[in-house]
Amino acid sequence: MDFSEKTASQPSVFFKIADLSCEYGAKTGGYMQEIMTNRLDRGFFRYQQEFEDAALRALRSGYYILGKELKEFEEQYASYMGAKYCVGCGNGLDALTLACRAIGLKEGDEVIVQGNTYIASVMGITIAGATPVFAEPDEYFSLDPAEIEKKITPNTKAVMVVHLYGQAAQMDEITAVCRKHGLKLIEDCAQSHGARFGDKMTGTFGDIGCFSFYPSKNIGAFGDGGAVITDNDEYDKKIRMLRNYGSAVRYYNEEVGMNSRLDEIQAALLKVRLAHEDECREERIAAAAFYDEAISNPNVELPKRRSGATHVFHQYVVRSKRRDELAAFLKKKGVMTIIHYPIPPHLSQAYEYLGVKKGSLPITEALANEVLSIPMYTGITREEQQYVAEALNSFK
Ligand SMILES: *Cc1c(COP(=O)(O)O)cnc(C)c1O
Repeated sequence: MDFSEKTASQPSVFFKIADLSCEYGAKTGGYMQEIMTNRLDRGFFRYQQEFEDAALRALRSGYYILGKELKEFEEQYASYMGAKYCVGCGNGLDALTLACRAIGLKEGDEVIVQGNTYIASVMGITIAGATPVFAEPDEYFSLDPAEIEKKITPNTKAVMVVHLYGQAAQMDEITAVCRKHGLKLIEDCAQSHGARFGDKMTGTFGDIGCFSFYPSKNIGAFGDGGAVITDNDEYDKKIRMLRNYGSAVRYYNEEVGMNSRLDEIQAALLKVRLAHEDECREERIAAAAFYDEAISNPNVELPKRRSGATHVFHQYVVRSKRRDELAAFLKKKGVMTIIHYPIPPHLSQAYEYLGVKKGSLPITEALANEVLSIPMYTGITREEQQYVAEALNSFK
């Protein structure tokens, strides 16, 4: 990156970075032009030696796929989450697809899923051959339990709940409705690693919990990665078989499976991430509390907390009726933001074929126009947050 050029085009905003341990900070002499929405280097440099040792150990082992590192990571992850089994796979989308296949979804089956999610949730359903039926979220951005019964038809087989932005959904009510109607429940936990509802981890309420270890997730790998967790022996076996060409015994293929495995290097690195998960999560929660206190602007609505649930702040998402104006204003001040997500899946070109009309999900569609994610990451400093808060507060 050419920093001199950036300086020339954005002369007014400089921000002093207290922590110079990263290359980016050092190159700019400790001054940045902008506060980015995410800084993956901070998390790496904090545990640099451990990550490098783990990567070298995996490289030197001479064994790179379905080995000891993965086995250990799966055991540790299952134990951390309070699940019986964990099966690593290639990414979060594959975790969702494998889960949908494992519960036996087939063509014509319907899965109720919230409209405001990352499109991968929906793709997991459709790649498995089933049909998504969109429902609205509650005021905490996750599936509104009251919506489920309205969407049930004779073809409904399952519900997929997304603990969006890192806050656990209303799992008492959602599990109760699923039980009442005999529906399977899949949890998309790609943003909610370590978030609890009551005293249980997200991912352990339904039949299968699906995780992504995409680098920017709260537990992020250094490449793609994913996993499912389950207490069900049959799903565990089935997903292990499906992730490896549909083969439980080498060269005996029971089903048309996938090639979706979490490699040894990523598994080794993820063990380091997992070992530090508690401190990183607490740090995010404290950073969010700081924003709560520091941001005050009638044009900006702060994220609400569900009582009895943890919010692990994969994203700190504010709402504003003047969202686009606000984003442009913050950008001028050197505060980068991002929209999760500007186009709800039902309005994307990919799902035009479902024929779900614009206007049919008013809450979801309003959110797409109002939400804005502000900088939040492991290692964000109070100085950076103070700057972000002051920028937000000065929006008139
Ligand atoms: C990131 C994400 C996924 C997909 O994970 P990948 O590893 O990128 O495939 C699925 N669902 C949600 C809610 C996500 O945020």
